[in-house]
Amino acid sequence: MSEKHVFKSELQQILNLITHSLYSHKEIFLRELISNASDAIDKIRFNSLQNDPLLEGDRDWKIRLVVDKEARTLTVSDNGIGMDHDALVENLGTIAKSGTKAFLESLKQADAAAKPGLIGQFGVGFYSAFMVADKVTVISRPAGAQGAMKWESDGLGEFTVDPAERAGRGTDVVLHLKEEEKEFLAEYRLRSIVKQFSDFIEHPVVIDADKGEGKTEEETLNSRKALWLRSKVDVTPEEHEAFYKQISDDYDAPAKVIHYAAEGTLEFKALLYIPKRKSWDLQFAEPKVGPRLYINRVQIMDHCEALLPPYLRFVKGVVDCSDLPLNVSRELLQHNPLLEKIQKSLVKNVFQALNDLRASEPETYEGVFKELGPFLKEGLARDFANREQICDLLLVGSLKTEAGRTTTLAQYVEAMPEGQQDIYFLTGEDRAVLEHVPALEAFRHRGWDVLLLTDPIDAFVFPTLPDYKGRAFKAADRHQPELDPEEKKKEEEAAEAYKPLLGLLKGLIGGLKDVRLTRRLKESASCLTSDEDAMDPHMERLLQKLGQ
Ligand code: ADP
Ligand code: MG
Repeated sequence: MSEKHVFKSELQQILNLITHSLYSHKEIFLRELISNASDAIDKIRFNSLQNDPLLEGDRDWKIRLVVDKEARTLTVSDNGIGMDHDALVENLGTIAKSGTKAFLESLKQADAAAKPGLIGQFGVGFYSAFMVADKVTVISRPAGAQGAMKWESDGLGEFTVDPAERAGRGTDVVLHLKEEEKEFLAEYRLRSIVKQFSDFIEHPVVIDADKGEGKTEEETLNSRKALWLRSKVDVTPEEHEAFYKQISDDYDAPAKVIHYAAEGTLEFKALLYIPKRKSWDLQFAEPKVGPRLYINRVQIMDHCEALLPPYLRFVKGVVDCSDLPLNVSRELLQHNPLLEKIQKSLVKNVFQALNDLRASEPETYEGVFKELGPFLKEGLARDFANREQICDLLLVGSLKTEAGRTTTLAQYVEAMPEGQQDIYFLTGEDRAVLEHVPALEAFRHRGWDVLLLTDPIDAFVFPTLPDYKGRAFKAADRHQPELDPEEKKKEEEAAEAYKPLLGLLKGLIGGLKDVRLTRRLKESASCLTSDEDAMDPHMERLLQKLGQ
């Protein structure tokens, strides 16, 4: 009697959606299964660094594709870590990921080109097997265990788990292909899919290639190139694009490549990519922070958080360091002075690359900043040491820019007229509304520019910024332009003259803290303002929206 289980209900929905919305990209199932096999090999290799007997002598890492034309099955086999009963039930029967709902939503909305990437980003890759198979059998034997287990499902709502046999450690994923998906039995088809989607996978993907007259020979289908180990000039833009797409699940080329080898006291190779847009997982799923960490070509971690600060989570790539011991533990990696040094270098290079992009391809940079700017601004609030560098990268609208155009803070400071000491800004939801704020009149009159900031995060970040290039940040609706001595004198005289009138007005209109003469207004007769230390009204609205 088989042990029966029911898929969690959301899974059912996911299966339906995957099969229907990815109909024209069915071949990515192979990429997902190969990537799982590769992860499984990385895991056992990592564990074996501290427990070598676990391998039982088998360190011939391999992902094998096996075709059985008669049975109409395609099998993806690995000698990775394997799964026991509970792992099979847990990993292949439930989706524990928090972003599932968001995944479903984004899959519905995404344009066709983006869809294949979403599967990998949301970690539901295994289920893509049901796009081409009407039954999937998984036979797995964990490292160090004697017996194997068999998981089987038609993807319609239930799966079974039974004891089984398997010669060594690892996993076979057997796809019983649908009648109309026979093409995935053809060697040339498999070759081209592996080449297209899995070429940079580190472990060999092999097949028993048909050599004619009934003879076969094991052949490796992927080139396994480690681009980051090559010198910068030897990697073509096409290779970068292909590699970036494989590690990022993006469907577009990266906006900027960062490739360098650090030499001297600390040696490492870095190959990082800045994307053109924010990936879906950055918005909806648990973000994965940090590039992959390799030690001498051996992958240690998929995402090494110690290598980049969280606000740079949009950066994808690989860092290979030969100075770390191979048997380093994950705990040790958390607070490692070596990694801290590498992080410093990476951060510096990311800023440099963004600056280069801004200078050399302003239009591309504008697009990138629209997507990634909020992450950089998050850095303003968290990474005090790099504030100035992040400020250099900001693009902001201002009174003097046309709607939709931007300036940099450096340009703003450069263009400040004589007499202006500080950087003035105003935050709000909408530029058109901000333009009509009465407080701006005095600035217009003097020819002083004011930053008009409409990104929601601006209201949280800018009021906390101390200065840029020695110029303080000031909210334009609380701080009026400073006066020269002559103006000051005039103002004091006027205040004296109007004192009785102001007193009278304050008495007439209830609920006001004070009635003052202002030099803010040139055209309006009066305006309401808040105290310099009171909460900014825009911020008050934002907080209200957040339920504070
Ligand atoms: P993800 O790979 O993003 O975690 P998948 O749906 O592709 O999501 O796989 C789900 C889980 O199933 C994996 O995290 C892993 O624990 C397990 N798994 C899948 N394939 C294998 C395999 N070949 N060997 C070992 N574990 C596997
Ligand atoms: Mg996967």
